[in-house]
Amino acid sequence: MSKVYFVPVKDADRIEDVRRKVTALLDESKILDFIRNDDDVAVKIHFGEERNTGHVRPEYAGVICKKILAKKARPFLTDTNTLYRGKRTNVPDHLKIAHEHGFTKNTCGAEVIIPDDDLKANVIDVAINGTFIKKAKIAALFLQADALVGIAHFKGHLMTGFGGALKNIGMGCATREGKLMQHSEIAPVIEVEKCDACMTCAKRCPTDAISLKGHRVYIDSSKCIGCASCIAACVHEAIDVDWEAGGSMVQEKMIEYASAVLRSKKNKCAFINFAIKITKECDCLAKDDPRIAPDIGIFASTDPVSIDKACFDSVLDACGKDIFKLAHPSRDGGKQVRYAAELGLGELKYELAQVMT
Ligand code: SF4
Ligand code: SF4
Repeated sequence: MSKVYFVPVKDADRIEDVRRKVTALLDESKILDFIRNDDDVAVKIHFGEERNTGHVRPEYAGVICKKILAKKARPFLTDTNTLYRGKRTNVPDHLKIAHEHGFTKNTCGAEVIIPDDDLKANVIDVAINGTFIKKAKIAALFLQADALVGIAHFKGHLMTGFGGALKNIGMGCATREGKLMQHSEIAPVIEVEKCDACMTCAKRCPTDAISLKGHRVYIDSSKCIGCASCIAACVHEAIDVDWEAGGSMVQEKMIEYASAVLRSKKNKCAFINFAIKITKECDCLAKDDPRIAPDIGIFASTDPVSIDKACFDSVLDACGKDIFKLAHPSRDGGKQVRYAAELGLGELKYELAQVMT
């Protein structure tokens, strides 16, 4: 049985109070004790889409990074570029939004590094021989770092019911190609009404899968290898993924991706989940998504399965109903933790230890 530490938060808008609680949680749980002098520590976080207000605040990431610095290790804040087109699709835009949201070396004590997964040197193919994924495409810096700390906002999610530590690693450490692999087994689609047939996407396609027939641009799914380069290339946002395709297996694929990262970090990772500002959708939404549950608190553990299960149980307890199922009736969020336990990534049973502040 794994131990999950928990500090309650009644009002997420009291930033100084939450900072104090993050400090107490880290001190009491000692979950960062595995970090050694000189370790390069990848601190995986979601910087929030433009106008999003649910993401974990830089002040809290700063508390965590400063604890890592105190161990004479080198933390860096990081995330991968998105599959959809937004403000985090490419490195310059992603860095810009991270800085605009306050994630700077000044605030956090750590630099922000976004890997450009268009460069082969930044991608590692991890052979996992899973049921759904044989080879996972992972941003190299997560595998090259000595240690990994996952900071996740615990909230609802369109595809996976809810998202926490496991999703932050499984989807969040995957390259754009890896994300497409998880979301869909089919080629992206072109939205005819937005496409002006400029053919920029075709120039980026490594397999010549995109062609012009008459006035319409087509993707030949038999040639497409799902690299997702065209999605980022189209400034008109005319290329999209059929988010429903492969939806029933997205959680299993995501967990197999998480295993590709976590197996390289045995006893070298820790997870901190913020179950506050619990929204219906994830932080990729460019808006102030309304909360669907009261603020619960902050959780910490070295077990990514236990921490997500503890957050899930605590939210349901506080609400008296499965608000994630109500928000996304076709999704069973529990599937991700069950499959992760089946793959040996952690324990479903946990002991919850409340930290007094
Ligand atoms: S880049 Fe976009 S607008 Fe241009 S051809 Fe491709 S899909 Fe159409
Ligand atoms: S996903 Fe990659 S291979 Fe498929 S059409 Fe787009 S650029 Fe070409």
